[in-house]
Amino acid sequence: MQDPELTYYPKDGKRFTEEERKALVKKARPIFLERVSYYAPLMKVAPGRITVRTQKTRWGSCTQDGNLNFNALLLLAPQEVLDSVVVHELCHLKYMNHSKYFYFELKRFYPEYKQAQAWLKENGGSLIKMLPKETLRRKRHRFWLFG
Ligand SMILES: [Zn+2]
Repeated sequence: MQDPELTYYPKDGKRFTEEERKALVKKARPIFLERVSYYAPLMKVAPGRITVRTQKTRWGSCTQDGNLNFNALLLLAPQEVLDSVVVHELCHLKYMNHSKYFYFELKRFYPEYKQAQAWLKENGGSLIKMLPKETLRRKRHRFWLFG
């Protein structure tokens, strides 16, 4: 991990304060930019805008126009997990689906993607629970308003 301060897990249901959550996003931004700049030329893709925020439901996403979005909570996961999400989203710049061609590409640039997926399945929920309660409530409310 790049930042030893952040490599802890919440104990007794501890959550980030809003300040800590903002600090996490701020720390995550240059790390995602760095990982994207590392993988994009190798994979011969050119992503658009990179957005980093905390999210309850997604680790990453890719829009039709090639903008990428990453969940800052991945900073608390092992580096391989963060990298695997970066490569996953970059693969969507080639294939906007989860076809066999998509997975062929993902496997080519991130062969251990299944281990990373398993880690997120096992531990992802506890990372999301670290978000301040206010954020969760506000997001649910917003979803309800527009959804
Ligand atoms: Zn995907």
